[in-house]
Amino acid sequence: MECQDYGLNRSVERRNLNLNPLQRGGVLPKEARVALYEFSDGYSVCDYCAGRLDEISKPAISSFLEDMARFINIDIARTVHGAREGKFAVMHALCNPGDTIIVDGNAHYTTHLAAERNGLEIIEVPNSSHPEYIINPEKYREVLENSIDEGKEIKLAVLTHVDGNYGNLTDATRIGKITADNNIPLLLNCAYSMGRLPIDAKKMNVDFVVGSGHKSMAASGPIGILGIREEWAAKILERSKRHQVKELEMLGCTSRGAPIATLMASFPHVIDRVNSWKDEIKKTRHFVKRLEEIEGVTQIGVKPTEHDLVRFETPGFDEIAQNHPRKGFFLYEELKKRNIVGIKRGQTKWFKCSVYGFTKEQIDYISLSFKEIAEKNR
Ligand SMILES: *Cc1c(COP(=O)(O)O)cnc(C)c1O
Repeated sequence: MECQDYGLNRSVERRNLNLNPLQRGGVLPKEARVALYEFSDGYSVCDYCAGRLDEISKPAISSFLEDMARFINIDIARTVHGAREGKFAVMHALCNPGDTIIVDGNAHYTTHLAAERNGLEIIEVPNSSHPEYIINPEKYREVLENSIDEGKEIKLAVLTHVDGNYGNLTDATRIGKITADNNIPLLLNCAYSMGRLPIDAKKMNVDFVVGSGHKSMAASGPIGILGIREEWAAKILERSKRHQVKELEMLGCTSRGAPIATLMASFPHVIDRVNSWKDEIKKTRHFVKRLEEIEGVTQIGVKPTEHDLVRFETPGFDEIAQNHPRKGFFLYEELKKRNIVGIKRGQTKWFKCSVYGFTKEQIDYISLSFKEIAEKNR
């Protein structure tokens, strides 16, 4: 049989300044690239396994998981294949089909899919709508308590710590208090926060946290972290009846090779970078300020931003597109000429971007490029 070359080349996206928020926190440091090569074969972490992935001591997965649990201040940590699989596992362990959960209005689609695959009903806490789209803790309380008053039994509360549309950071501590007061376990989705900013699960009063290795923890992935409070361990980590050492929700073993090896190799780098979160915010706010100096460019979501993912409305660029011979493609093409990628092709009404991990000089170069493109084409 003949086959085509499958286009396995991403040098453009890798070598240029990539503003796609999805890509910024998953860039591997050198140590992780070495580990990726070392553990590139299938089942590569399983050479010395005695039946439980989380107990393997060479490579030191068991100590790594203990360190990870300490890093996010929760009792127990497991790896899963991504934030979504973590959410699915918690919902699956806690709920039965037909049960109801409460979810914030900025939830990721994977929260909805995890619920749907589990046959769950969702009650949604609306955001404050344009232009801030805030998830207000008092609104969360109102929707939750009204539903309970109407006789709904709510099995689980889910909160998006930082959402992927506006980069809004929710007040998990206050919402954690509200759900705890109502005796409802809370799952905090930290896909955009764990590995970027400090997470203290106990301080925030949450029962479960999920993180995403490929999104925010400098891992090649797919890999996620599921953090569990002790009191839920028996339920979430229930063992198989037939294969008594195997944890059912984990389907026995989760990440079994390069994904976990890169996560482990990157961990010191991740611990270190979380301490620089305040600098990242400063850099992002500086970037937003520069971009908003361009006519017809406004950041939406909470201001000043509290996360590196920022969303801009850009009627200024859209107006240029109307009269430009390349129409909506001009922005992408002009950026690419300047070695900047990651803004969707053809899109000029709005865009999301992130300068996470870039130097001040790179950020100044990027904002200057946007300015130049606006001025040149106006
Ligand atoms: C990216 C993202 C996810 C999905 O993470 P995976 O690890 O790929 O499952 C979930 N929630 C939010 C808020 C995200 O931004």
